[in-house]
Amino acid sequence: MNRQSLDPGADRPRNVAIIAAGGSGVRMGGLKKQFLPLAGLPVVVRSIRPFQDHPLVDAIVLVVPPGDIPFGQSLCSAYGLAKVKGVVEGGRSRSESVRSGLEAARSFHPDVILVHDGVRPLVRARLIDRVLEAATRHGAAVPAMEIYDSLKRVACDRVESSVPRERMRAVQTPQGFQSAWLYGAYSRPVLPEATDDAGLVEACGYPIAVLPGDRDNVKITSEDDLKLAGRLLADPGVAAGIGYDVHRLEAGRPFILGGVKIPSELGLTGHSDADVIVHAVIDALLGAAGLPDIGQQFPDTDPRFCGADSTGLLEQAVKTVAGVGCSVLSIDVTVVCERPRLAPHIPDMKARLAPILRVDPSRIGIKATTQEGMGFVGRAEGVCAWCVTLVQRH
Ligand code: MG
Repeated sequence: MNRQSLDPGADRPRNVAIIAAGGSGVRMGGLKKQFLPLAGLPVVVRSIRPFQDHPLVDAIVLVVPPGDIPFGQSLCSAYGLAKVKGVVEGGRSRSESVRSGLEAARSFHPDVILVHDGVRPLVRARLIDRVLEAATRHGAAVPAMEIYDSLKRVACDRVESSVPRERMRAVQTPQGFQSAWLYGAYSRPVLPEATDDAGLVEACGYPIAVLPGDRDNVKITSEDDLKLAGRLLADPGVAAGIGYDVHRLEAGRPFILGGVKIPSELGLTGHSDADVIVHAVIDALLGAAGLPDIGQQFPDTDPRFCGADSTGLLEQAVKTVAGVGCSVLSIDVTVVCERPRLAPHIPDMKARLAPILRVDPSRIGIKATTQEGMGFVGRAEGVCAWCVTLVQRH
């Protein structure tokens, strides 16, 4: 990295952001929460992006857990995070991780350094603006929130004492520092205990300006935080799917629809039992989960599926969909069939499909209509079905 390419011009300082994402997920049972998906993007990518997009941030150093450098690099290239000029390994504590980020940032000769938690994915450009401005002016600045809950000191699940909250603040990131102060604070061979960088800078006797934080700038430390962040991003956490199927009617075949055998002279032909309702449902579920369609999961060239009971295929599809973290919320089917009349059989179909889909029958809609004598359905040459589904993504 040459200094020239970072030079923002004489009129403003060089600003480098360090994203501290070296945590190994102790509080979430070894799950590295910085890499978990949040509304379709890894948490850490969301934490970096506002810095990537910020016109006053010149370079970014990403600190990842030991062994995750290739993964960190692949995330940066996959998501176009071109300002990330270095991906380095963290240490055993947050401070050690930031220290290795600082070492990597040294070659960029930064004037101001922002340090941001890799698990604060909702940071906004406005907050970065204000921290940069305050750090440039005062030397060190942190965003902080007033505390509205009552504060207690607790020991062994008992209140020891009440703590006046008026002068207490909950401090967030990004925290901004003129680089000389931050390098000075991190130059001690043994770092004092600190949960943030301001703690180390403060221990050196430097004054730290406090500015208002952002209530939405949550830190992801638990699954509940991840859900909260999803709600703040208005991620509904659900996906829709659509499925369609059609099969030909022929004499001498059983007529099976929605897993129910219906008395009729004509039945549906196909490689399996040709249950168009169940096939449409399977395709809708696979689509909602972003998986390959029914033809790829259960090829009609595979002798295992010859004459197959389609409800068995549906059972497998529900398992496959569950395997990628999706569960069925609802399905709605329209089946188009000239005869026989299907309405009397619909309650049986719902009762048959509900346990397979692992939903209450009230979450299943099945409507039957005719084609008023028109087209292939009207001539009783075939039957078709559409299905729309909603799935929950976990
Ligand atoms: Mg089919």
